[in-house]
Amino acid sequence: MCQEVGHTFGLNHQDETFSNPNLGSCMDYTNDPSTNQHPNQHDYNQLVTIYGHTDRTDSYTTQFAGIPAPRSGANNDDEDFGTPTGKKDSHGRDILFVKPAAGGQTLYTWVNWAGHGNSDKH
Ligand SMILES: [Zn+2]
Repeated sequence: MCQEVGHTFGLNHQDETFSNPNLGSCMDYTNDPSTNQHPNQHDYNQLVTIYGHTDRTDSYTTQFAGIPAPRSGANNDDEDFGTPTGKKDSHGRDILFVKPAAGGQTLYTWVNWAGHGNSDKH
């Protein structure tokens, strides 16, 4: 499980030869997983390389300033997601909306409808 989660975050195998000495990383193939149960420092260093921010830029704030994030857990029927693009789900509900955002950007909002509408046949 540790290795699959590592792959999801972008980590690769550190060693694919089962008979080599363990590296202390779950990203290491082994015949004896007893000491390869967790990420090791190399894995953490890789995550910093992939995800670390060395500047102070916050691209979310600068691109979407003034645009409220969709509310979770609320009834979003009255939320202004922008203009429906015409893409609909199998129940005929609009699922992709578009609206202009700050700096000439375009904000697309994908809606996964939940709950039981009149046409729902779950
Ligand atoms: Zn793997």
